[in-house]
Amino acid sequence: MTQLPLNGLVADRPAILSLSASDLEAWLVSHAAPAYRRQQVWGWLARGSASFDEMGDVPKPLRSELEREFRITSLRQIAVSEADRGLTTKTLYELDGGHSVESVVMRYSGRSTLCISSQAGCPIGCPFCATGKFPFGRNLKANEIVEQALDAVRLLGAEGRRLSHVVFMGMGEPMANYQAVVESVRRLSDPELLGISPRRIVVSTSGLIPRITQLGEEKLAVTLAISLHAARDELRDVLVPINRKYPVADLVAAAQGYADRTSRRVSYEWVLLAGVNDTERDAKELGRLLRGKLAHVNLIPFNPVDDTPYRAPERAAVRRFKGLVEAQGLTVTVRDTRGRDADAACGQLHERVMAERTKVSA
Ligand code: SF4
Repeated sequence: MTQLPLNGLVADRPAILSLSASDLEAWLVSHAAPAYRRQQVWGWLARGSASFDEMGDVPKPLRSELEREFRITSLRQIAVSEADRGLTTKTLYELDGGHSVESVVMRYSGRSTLCISSQAGCPIGCPFCATGKFPFGRNLKANEIVEQALDAVRLLGAEGRRLSHVVFMGMGEPMANYQAVVESVRRLSDPELLGISPRRIVVSTSGLIPRITQLGEEKLAVTLAISLHAARDELRDVLVPINRKYPVADLVAAAQGYADRTSRRVSYEWVLLAGVNDTERDAKELGRLLRGKLAHVNLIPFNPVDDTPYRAPERAAVRRFKGLVEAQGLTVTVRDTRGRDADAACGQLHERVMAERTKVSA
């Protein structure tokens, strides 16, 4: 892990993307520049520009004015961790006001995926999750979410790669920060900014039913992922505490309502915890819940988190559970466990850096 010194930037100027397209255009016009310069500036941001000065087709005096008034990004990198022989990069950012969030770039053949954070911390408090262990900080603003993607674009661009997929599976419950998440999805998919197809954007939720229904009305057609992890209320009440408010059967009904509206298959995420949710009973319950639905099951072998009672399953147990779920007539994949040496479970890099800072200041 590389810990980076804080770069001394003060949060005096707003980040350029904290302005909407129309607000930036109004600012340009008020500075005697044509509104179309906004598209040029966004184009440079989308190509990974790290400074206004790089924006060659923007007149120099305007570049200087932009530099005086705005920051390219509000995010400050404070730690970077690599794994999988450079295929996985995890970055910890400090936000204005001092909270921090993580994002993870995963490189595959033919695509590059960013796992993005939508909140600093998470109010849901799943007991197997590193993020759920520390106090909730705050919601991210839409620009802070998009800036994680722009930073990934810069990183990947330097390697001749493009950012092709974004998954909202980092820190936080995206649906608990609904407006900012929807706005950030619109910007990620805006052809004038990143132009990532909504089909390549996955928004996950632990199960906030009213927001799932609302998302179905947005005409966004992103892929919905449900962090299911258990198919019976008794177990899910423990693993995903929001289940006490929004039980499994209602959740699946809402998710399939989303599938009906968007014709998008719903992805059901299942973190496999050894001896907890990897039994034949679990597979049968899952089969009863999802059989015949426009659904896909994604098994995620648990990435061990300190101070939790949960253990990662053996490879053979993962294979066995996959077979049991397939036998229920469901489509199943096993997510590759990227970044075991990069603090890959969400919240782990934050936890480690904060622990080291506490040691240093003690
Ligand atoms: S697993 Fe997701 S919803 Fe649960 S505490 Fe962690 S970040 Fe929040």
